[in-house]
Amino acid sequence: MNYKNFSTALFCTVFDVEHIDWGTFDDPFRFIEKNAGIDKVYLETYRAEHFVSADRINEARKFFEKKGISCSGGITFSAKGRTSWDFRSFCYSNQRYVDEMIKVIEYTAALFDEIILDDFYFTNCKCEMCIREKGDTSWDDYRTEKLREMSKLMVKHAKLANKNVRVIIKYPNWYDDYQHTGYNLRDQREIHGYLYTGTETRDSALTQQNLPRYLSYFLMRYIETAMPGKNMGGWFDPFDCSHNLNSYLEQAYLTMFAKSREVTLFCLGAFMRRDFRQFVPLAGFALERVDAFLGKLGNPSGIACYKPFNSEGDNYFLPALGMLGIPLEPTPFFPEDADTVILSESASADADIIDRIKGQLKKRKTVVITSTLAKALHDRGLRDIVDLDFGGTVAIRRIASEMLLCGYKNYADLSSDILVPRVIIRTNDSWPVVAGQGGENGYPLLTETTYAEGKLIVLVVPERYSDMYAYPVFALDSIRCRILGKSRITISAPAGVGIFLYDNNCFIVESFLARTTPVTITVRNTNEDIIDLETGEKVEGRGEGGNRTFTLDLAASTFRAFGFSGGNAGT
Ligand SMILES: [Zn+2]
Repeated sequence: MNYKNFSTALFCTVFDVEHIDWGTFDDPFRFIEKNAGIDKVYLETYRAEHFVSADRINEARKFFEKKGISCSGGITFSAKGRTSWDFRSFCYSNQRYVDEMIKVIEYTAALFDEIILDDFYFTNCKCEMCIREKGDTSWDDYRTEKLREMSKLMVKHAKLANKNVRVIIKYPNWYDDYQHTGYNLRDQREIHGYLYTGTETRDSALTQQNLPRYLSYFLMRYIETAMPGKNMGGWFDPFDCSHNLNSYLEQAYLTMFAKSREVTLFCLGAFMRRDFRQFVPLAGFALERVDAFLGKLGNPSGIACYKPFNSEGDNYFLPALGMLGIPLEPTPFFPEDADTVILSESASADADIIDRIKGQLKKRKTVVITSTLAKALHDRGLRDIVDLDFGGTVAIRRIASEMLLCGYKNYADLSSDILVPRVIIRTNDSWPVVAGQGGENGYPLLTETTYAEGKLIVLVVPERYSDMYAYPVFALDSIRCRILGKSRITISAPAGVGIFLYDNNCFIVESFLARTTPVTITVRNTNEDIIDLETGEKVEGRGEGGNRTFTLDLAASTFRAFGFSGGNAGT
């Protein structure tokens, strides 16, 4: 291994394996070798209905093995599109494609002991045959069941060709939509036994998707908790990162902060292009930098958020909470032991969710639900816990927080309106801790209600949830304080600063912002100072009531990793 804490892999697509002249590739490849340590390559045998011959595969294999780089297989189950980057999915109700899938997997399994599936292993086909087969069921149900069958068939045929083979299924970054096109984490994780995570967040604002940047970390953890020990790695690419090179570094950092076992760089062909070559030294820099301190970090930890398997809701909102400085540990299993659990609309897929919420509250715990979930559960028994009503959408122009007599302690005007769903609370049944105001009206943004000995928090999700990034620091502090409760390490900062916690009290703060930002870190019950894990530099804090606060200026798009001067954060 080139690095102490993870292995690395480079993905070579069908086009790379096919078109590179392996006999003369020593010179061009030196650029990659010089800049990044590569332990393994995934050699793709099939993509867009194109097979690479065993001869070509073996030439590439010889090239890499001579350098001590191991070789595994890769497959992209996509059909031919109009161009090389255009694609269509397989149609699994058509026997021709099922036969093709079997042929591809048998062919590849005979060549390699390990195969990874690029994340085109879904189906969006709505041909006459699929429409007929689907019948009255939903596309979600039809496709998840179809892909469950296909995965069983695929693994069976792979093992027939090579009994030692493992077929790793890589899950795409679009986690909230898996089930619509057949990705079925609930069933496939056990059929395949080995998972992988797409951490390509790229550019949140400009790309087609709706992915908060913290997602690169969030999804790594979700796939890990879905099958502990079997999330084999994280995979990202340089696409749409050219205008902000730090966004590429960020994908690499977040993948590793989640304790990735392997880091896959996609792909050799892209790195050979003149306009993408700069990403190779960047990748090498990130790998070397994080490797130097990653071993000092314990296991990742954070506030539990529950997203049942194959569920959807609030459209990728959860990782946006990570952008607000709330450390998250997502899981597809209801985290009964957690002191606080965050639930978005996707939790409504759990038929027992009301009983589970009540169960937590009766154990004196905190449950945070989004306004969207509150609305979804309104007629399913939530009224028994808190009586809310829902109106339309309202515009707020001012934000206030923390009640003081009949008003609030803090007020700030916003530079433009924010549209939020109108949640109506019953006076003195719920309390608005953070509120939006417009005209002479006020609308809750975060409310608290007690039930039994527990606390239910309703967090209002703005129509455009990235508008939360414009909330003033005092409002974010109120939100963080209510959700994080007695967490030992917390930050006060504008939105766009993330914190990553580890169970040995080490932590990382990372800026997603385009400007230097002051960040205040508060550590409870300690008299120790914090130490920069990379430089050994001590940051001195100020003591206050058994707590200690540290203030630092975090430069744009940078991170700092810390431990404690005495090796722990106290008791
Ligand atoms: Zn079809």
